[in-house]
Amino acid sequence: MKAGIPVKKNEYYDIDIHGLGHEGEGVGRIDGFTVFVPYALPGDTIKVKILKVKSAYAYGKLVDIINPSEYRIDPICPSFVQCGGCQLQHVDYGEQLRLKRQKVVDALQRIGRLEDIVVHPTLGMDKPVRYRNKAQFPVAADPKDNSVQIGFYAPRSHRIVEIDTCHIQHEMNDAIVNTVKQWMKKYHITAYHESTGKGLVRHIFTRIAFKTGEVMVVLVTNGRHIPNEQSLIHKIKEINTTAAPVFASNAECQTPNCNIVSMVQNINTRKTNVVLGQENRVLWGKDTITDYIGDVKFNISPMSFYQVNPVQTEVLYNKALEYAGLAGDETVLDLYCGIGTISLFLAQRAKKVIGVEIVPAAIEDAKKNASINDIRNVAFYTGAAEEVVPELYGQGHRADVVVIDPPRKGCDETLLSTIAAMQAERIVYVSCNPSTLARDLRFLEDQGYKVVEVQPVDLFCWTYHVEVVVGIQRKESMK
Ligand code: SAH
Repeated sequence: MKAGIPVKKNEYYDIDIHGLGHEGEGVGRIDGFTVFVPYALPGDTIKVKILKVKSAYAYGKLVDIINPSEYRIDPICPSFVQCGGCQLQHVDYGEQLRLKRQKVVDALQRIGRLEDIVVHPTLGMDKPVRYRNKAQFPVAADPKDNSVQIGFYAPRSHRIVEIDTCHIQHEMNDAIVNTVKQWMKKYHITAYHESTGKGLVRHIFTRIAFKTGEVMVVLVTNGRHIPNEQSLIHKIKEINTTAAPVFASNAECQTPNCNIVSMVQNINTRKTNVVLGQENRVLWGKDTITDYIGDVKFNISPMSFYQVNPVQTEVLYNKALEYAGLAGDETVLDLYCGIGTISLFLAQRAKKVIGVEIVPAAIEDAKKNASINDIRNVAFYTGAAEEVVPELYGQGHRADVVVIDPPRKGCDETLLSTIAAMQAERIVYVSCNPSTLARDLRFLEDQGYKVVEVQPVDLFCWTYHVEVVVGIQRKESMK
């Protein structure tokens, strides 16, 4: 045993689990020393085997549940634990929502030193199944016998776990995956080898527009030529008349009347973990699918960034709209705007919306989306928010309301202080990472803003992720 550390590698201990770590793992203590145990749950008493000891904490493996938490349930998926997709399938859904709220409260207190903030109960789904509109299935050759494997990655690995059905994905995916697999077998189509860079099929990628039922199937290939391409197209199209009606009658189904309308080949010959390459070729049908968020229409291509839980996205955006408090005469900045989803959603209620986004292709999509909806009071700028916003400020631009929806690393301080200098009345902060959110909220509080209320929204049911929307006001104008 290391000096001063009360746990030893490979030893077994009985512990009570009292909290949940960043990645959904249970947290307990042995003589005050913190131990993280994946798949353990607050309220459990468990037997743990210590696998790794660091100076401030240890990692262990759950070997036995001595006394289960009252919220422990049987996972719906037989591949839970082997597959790395979900982390909380052993937790009752209502308890998941409470734990996600607690994660937000803890971050605000510990990192943001923000006490007494109103954090509402997490808004969850009535039917938290089959909710995703995008799926990516890696395709590989089994190292043992070279047979085709299609599934999901195991946790922290690129080993493929094959599953019959994934309950957070639409049922159409099962038929699509099976069809591609049968076709590959029949025509001896090769799967991609990550180690050698050889083999053709890398991924099956699908998107489903929940509002219209339009489905896009993308085959990601390491090379241009697809042998027996017509036969694949024919078989994929057949799903519309064979499997789709069966899925529509399934009680779990969120989107009846699904119809494959687009098949695209995406060519990715690079040795990379990035799923999609730069080039798309339409094999059959349309090059985009059409979906709606609220009344706003979006054309989505394989590359477009688009929120993956459409039902909850609308819940999230409605909260953002509420916190924006628009009367109709405001200028709104929508930072990190992606394809302009929030900008266009808010534009109907504001005088003008200015979107800023770093990816040029996303800005092109945003402009097209504005045009197909005939929304004219929007402007989009390509660039880093922390560079574009100070420039706009320098040119005399001001905003009444600022919406920020950054990636996990949060915002740059230059950006936040420019927003403060602009004296924006309200800020709406949308975040997928409570830690960086709490850090940025602390900074904004020190710059003259007050965090008024915090709303967690469950966009990623059965995983540890939580999305948060925060209403923030300028202290000066609250007096
Ligand atoms: N608001 C959008 C997208 C949010 S995701 C929606 O709800 O759909 C975050 C976005 O921030 C991504 O599109 C990413 O490309 C963009 N991004 C990342 N770093 C950025 C930066 N420094 N400045 C502007 N945009 C950035």
